[in-house]
Amino acid sequence: MKTTMKVEFDSISENEAFARVTVAAFMSRMNPSIDEVADVKTAVSEAVTNAIIHGYEGEVHTITIFGQIEGEMLELRITDQGVGIQDIEKAMEPLYTSRPELERSGMGFLFMEAFMDEVQVQSSPGEGTTVLMKKKIRKSGE
Ligand code: ATP
Ligand code: MG
Repeated sequence: MKTTMKVEFDSISENEAFARVTVAAFMSRMNPSIDEVADVKTAVSEAVTNAIIHGYEGEVHTITIFGQIEGEMLELRITDQGVGIQDIEKAMEPLYTSRPELERSGMGFLFMEAFMDEVQVQSSPGEGTTVLMKKKIRKSGE
């Protein structure tokens, strides 16, 4: 059986916690381990922070998270309609950041890739960015 959810919220830093908790609640029906929940929360945090800081450059607009559970597979799409990414390959390189002056370290995509099974970025300059992340959740206790 497939089940989905969609949540929209303003791109303010207070909503990083909201996004983490919302996704954790959504995936709780998968009976995940504490580690699996922590991994997904970290990945969601990184993607939402990127939308706030880079996508919308601190302006307040809407961030959308689409979630889907199908069997053991959790899929999340985190979308902004912000500035977009010129060179996705370069953006995803470890330690690459376009904002060193903000003390960013270019670790966000690295964390997302480390904690999720699959990360795909779709982006067009001027149109926005969608980060698609997938993770297989192994039922705890099995
Ligand atoms: P850190 O995550 O360690 O604080 P960072 O955000 O710069 O630093 P990444 O999260 O790996 O590092 O992102 C790399 C780069 O990709 C960013 O510096 C930015 O240029 C670009 N980027 C990431 N997400 C977005 C987005 N939603 N919109 C526009 N650009 C983005
Ligand atoms: Mg980042």
